[in-house]
Amino acid sequence: MADASSPSRSSPRIAAILLDHSPGGIALVEGADFVFAYVNEAFQAIAPDRPMLGRAFSAVWPEVAGQVLPMLERVRTSGEPLELTDFRADVRRRLDGPLEEAWWNVTLKAMPPRGGEPASIAIHIVDRTAAVRERRVTEALQAEQERLREAERAARGAELLAEAIPQLVWTCGPDGETDWLNQRWREYAGLTPGPQDGDLWRAVLHPRDLPGFFDVCSISLHAGMPMDMEVRLRAADGSYRWHLLRAVPLRDDQGRVLQWFGTATDIEEQRRALDSADLARRRETDARSRAEDASFAAGQRAAELDTVLDSIADGLVISNQAGEVERANETARRLLGELPPGSDWLHRFVVRDTLGQELPVGAMPPVRALRGEVVRGVELRLEPRGGPGSPTWLSVSAAPVRDDRGDIRGVVTTFGDITRLHELQERQADLLRAISHDLRTPLTVILTQAQLLQRRPDDPPTVVRRAESVRTSAQRMAAMIDDLVDLVRLEAGLVKLAPRAVALAPFAAELRDRLRGTLAVERLRLEVPESLPAASADPPRLERILVNLITNALKYSPPESETVVSGALVDGQVQLTVADQGPGIPADELDRVFERFYRSPSALRKEGLGLGLYITRLLVEAHGGQIRVESEVGRGSAFHVLLPRAAAERGV
Ligand code: ADP
Repeated sequence: MADASSPSRSSPRIAAILLDHSPGGIALVEGADFVFAYVNEAFQAIAPDRPMLGRAFSAVWPEVAGQVLPMLERVRTSGEPLELTDFRADVRRRLDGPLEEAWWNVTLKAMPPRGGEPASIAIHIVDRTAAVRERRVTEALQAEQERLREAERAARGAELLAEAIPQLVWTCGPDGETDWLNQRWREYAGLTPGPQDGDLWRAVLHPRDLPGFFDVCSISLHAGMPMDMEVRLRAADGSYRWHLLRAVPLRDDQGRVLQWFGTATDIEEQRRALDSADLARRRETDARSRAEDASFAAGQRAAELDTVLDSIADGLVISNQAGEVERANETARRLLGELPPGSDWLHRFVVRDTLGQELPVGAMPPVRALRGEVVRGVELRLEPRGGPGSPTWLSVSAAPVRDDRGDIRGVVTTFGDITRLHELQERQADLLRAISHDLRTPLTVILTQAQLLQRRPDDPPTVVRRAESVRTSAQRMAAMIDDLVDLVRLEAGLVKLAPRAVALAPFAAELRDRLRGTLAVERLRLEVPESLPAASADPPRLERILVNLITNALKYSPPESETVVSGALVDGQVQLTVADQGPGIPADELDRVFERFYRSPSALRKEGLGLGLYITRLLVEAHGGQIRVESEVGRGSAFHVLLPRAAAERGV
């Protein structure tokens, strides 16, 4: 125990024993060549059949000399220890054995140098090979498990995806045997859950698509090439819908097909659209060829049409929606100038109405027709815009041209040349103007002189009678001149009314008083009720209306017969009636008596121009009223004038 208590004497020996039996390999190398000076048991155990003591490191461990010698040199030079964890080296455990992977924890430490000797280096080495191997296996196992889990996750994900996507999805083995379908597939085709056998495709494919499908499948399976085809798949309700089938192979590292992954996408709508587009294309082609066939005949018909159009006396222009000329006949070209297709005639002229007002484009007959209106006989004056040429008067009509569906495709406009007629009318108007002035002046003189003669009581009765005759004739003549002048002014739209409320009973009474001496007013009976609402009328014009009707009634009926002027409220309007007991008017003349210059053959012996009733009608219409006649031959006539009620009177 005394020895044991004296470490100073026993420590080198103990240290040697500890070193020798240490579980870690310990060696000491020294000298320039790193010669093994000490090797413990564990170090020797690394390569048991290798003699080490007294031999250089490179000789003992040639397989690792390349890796280790530089480290030994570095440690010796620097004096710094070196620690390596899990240093890997390929070594032979036996001299004749194979190179094996080995892992060591290595510590190199330089010993304090003695004399001029280079420092020797202690090598401590712990063999980690078994531990590292074990760890690697564990890691590999873990990695494998992780991979498996990952694969499972991926597979589940793929399955979920396959369930989620709207396509029908399936997988099949390398032999083409279907082994999985997504839920959508089952729902679509109405299949029961569970594995599907090879009859799946026979059950769901349209019989006509079956042969093609199997052909494509077998080619695809043999070649390992993706498959792509359009087929009809039967739905649960028995109907078929077009689907695009696609199948791609999943391969392993060696490129062998492990599985096929297939999808079917519904392309029914696209197919239909394509089919209809195809149909439309086919129809178009058909139509085009038919059109080509027809074009010769159409050309002939067009020529015929042109001939027909040219034979029409009126000008005729067919224009499209844009107002561009599509076809025009010869008269139209003569009236409007050259009209090549696509041209536009409207803007070539300043267009005026009968009052000389320039017509806005929107009021032009063809433009109105484009809006769907049928325009008849509008008299227009066309003045060439900014160029030579005289104005033309045209009677223009226009009507829309509609297609099968009733949509307006264009307009047909016809033009009657009424320039000469207008010239005549203008000359007539000039004449009437001249008459009204030049005749009226001397007539006034005649009238005045006749009246003066009549007032001379000492003149013989024959002179007075003749003076009376001159006066009445002059008066009638003045009335006729008034008619003519009125006619011109009314037709030219120059008569402007100033309507006001007119109480008809007093109006008629006053009129009768004023006519005394001019007309046989004693034959007049007034039956206009005082209660009759006032009419809206221009008094001088209303007087003219009544005077014309009363004059005719007295003129055409027997001298002793009575003429009645009555009034009534008819349909909210005021009606004045002049009824006589004259010869009446034959039924076939009733409409014509209001025409310009119309005179009944039976009335020819009486004086008149045939203008009275025409002017009366124009005046009544200018009031917004209406005139009509009821008559019975042999019993008499009744002329009814309907006038609007005065505003203040309305609703009373
Ligand atoms: P006119 O100057 O001939 O009287 P109107 O225009 O006043 O011209 O009348 C046209 C025609 O209508 C007359 O020619 C006559 O034949 C017929 N007419 C007008 N008023 C009557 C009437 N009250 N009775 C019978 N015929 C009438």
